[in-house]
Amino acid sequence: RGKRAFIAGIADDNGYGWAIAKSLAAAGAEIIVGTWVPAMNFFESGLERGEFDESRVLPDGSLMEISKVYPMDAVFDGPEDVPEDMKTSKRYAGYSKWTVKELVESVKQDFGSIDILVHSLANGPEVVKPLLETSRFGYLAAISASSYSFISLLQNFLPIMNPGGATVSLSYIAAERIIPGYGGGMSSAKAALESDTRVLAFEAGRKHNIRVNTISAGPLRSRAAKAIGSIDMMIDYSSTNAPIQKELSAEEVGNAAAFLASPLASAITGTVLYVDNGLNAMAVSI
Ligand code: NAD
Repeated sequence: RGKRAFIAGIADDNGYGWAIAKSLAAAGAEIIVGTWVPAMNFFESGLERGEFDESRVLPDGSLMEISKVYPMDAVFDGPEDVPEDMKTSKRYAGYSKWTVKELVESVKQDFGSIDILVHSLANGPEVVKPLLETSRFGYLAAISASSYSFISLLQNFLPIMNPGGATVSLSYIAAERIIPGYGGGMSSAKAALESDTRVLAFEAGRKHNIRVNTISAGPLRSRAAKAIGSIDMMIDYSSTNAPIQKELSAEEVGNAAAFLASPLASAITGTVLYVDNGLNAMAVSI
């Protein structure tokens, strides 16, 4: 049977999550998606109306099928964590079972198991603020949504992941080098995600024979990245200064993720793989 992949963090056809889903689908995987509750209506109705059909075309001409879209909010582990006013808020009221534990329970009931877990989500409410001006709330919120969310997903999915499976998350060079404008604790969150990739590779590897890797991706004009004012500057900077002078496509990151999730990468775990046209290797721009 083909592999089954759960991809957390798709809400349109622009981001890395969508591109990863397509590369996995092209390689024969079944695709299940987790979408942030406030974006559910937009994404589901767009899918139903065929708005993403052009982007669903796979190399063989067929359309990517998504077996199911689950509502999720990765900053809540279980129903006991959800504040009353949120349950009844306009954006959440129409949806249920969207905490991580409940989500995994639903996936277990519907599909039994998965082979591949992809974490393609991040959020930092104060991303536009320099780290020096970031509040405790903003910093912890960035870590909660962008780093702990992966631990929570892996913790809950691991029991229903088939041994030999793999996970992939998305990081950014701001974890290890100074990227002015990537604020609000987002650089800290990516540093945590990369460190956790190593520790979780050990723990999930020993416990369940699951591989854990992250991709340090170059800049992409996704919906999330538009919140960072300097994204266009980063894309221009990369095209000018990277060893390979071209704009990075989401598809290139998708293909690298499909490789990491596949048996071709069966001895690769605990790594940060740069998919950035080589920009990380530069010390001076020339
Ligand atoms: P994107 O907007 O396509 O994806 C981010 C997703 O996170 C969105 O769908 C959003 O709805 C979801 N999300 C936010 N908070 C959530 C929560 N609490 N629970 C569940 N989902 C939530 O943008 P993207 O840039 O493709 O981001 C995907 C990943 O790639 C992120 O980890 C991001 O940091 C990383 N990344 C992006 C770039 C870039 O330049 N765009 C570069 C390197 C790494």
